[in-house]
Amino acid sequence: MLKIEDLHVEIEDKKILKGLSLEVKPGEIHAIMGPNGAGKSTLAKVLAGDPSYEVESGDISFMGKDLLDLEPDERAHLGLFMSFQYPMEISGISNFEFMMAAKNAHQKACGKESLSEEDFKKLLLEKMELMQVRSEFLERDINSGFSGGEKKRNEILQMSVLDPKLAILDETDSGLDIDAMRVVADGISKYLSEDKAVILITHYQRLLDYVKPDFVHVAIDGKIVKSGTIELAYLLEEKGYDWLIKETVEV
Ligand code: ADP
Ligand code: MG
Repeated sequence: MLKIEDLHVEIEDKKILKGLSLEVKPGEIHAIMGPNGAGKSTLAKVLAGDPSYEVESGDISFMGKDLLDLEPDERAHLGLFMSFQYPMEISGISNFEFMMAAKNAHQKACGKESLSEEDFKKLLLEKMELMQVRSEFLERDINSGFSGGEKKRNEILQMSVLDPKLAILDETDSGLDIDAMRVVADGISKYLSEDKAVILITHYQRLLDYVKPDFVHVAIDGKIVKSGTIELAYLLEEKGYDWLIKETVEV
């Protein structure tokens, strides 16, 4: 589904990703952990097509296409979704209008018929119930006045409405209380199926107890330095990253 090979990325002449490789197959859940500044959000944004990052070298294929050749909307239409670590507030457009426009753009790109306002509302209300998002949020401007946790739930709501093939969730669990964490984990679990995959960027093993990853990777200084199973996440919870950072420097 996704194959990243030896990816090098810079921003403003600063090297951030330094030879990162990762392969994700359908049905797999990958967790990426690692200290602040390792380049995890950079990876997410490069995959989504943020133009502020410069890809110096490396290859990324997604759904059999060269991802780097595609515009952000083309990537989304192929089934890529990214939730922001820091979701933005956008005034002047309601949550409802935004999600309906996004969904129908996706329908159109896939050669499917647009949903009527009525049909879309039905779909949305069903997903909102699952994500425990209150109906008043529909009419509010995107993320406007939402608490941190509400913004994160809104990201997962967008994911479940758009129904991507690969979801990259950047610290969606940060700042959530235990109940909200369960709702988010539930949303992710319900989205998952055999032909879908998810990359969870997280600092905490708690989300991983709910959404069991097949692989856990540790990113340090722009590379994946260790990969393993959930056991690796437990080890990190216990020992922190220092021992790995030392190991990385010595190598
Ligand atoms: P992580 O998500 O792993 O904490 P990031 O990908 O956000 O790390 O950041 C990696 C490094 O790149 C950090 O040192 C950060 O300051 C730098 N960086 C990220 N985005 C920018 C940017 N837009 N301008 C300058 N530096 C950036
Ligand atoms: Mg980050």
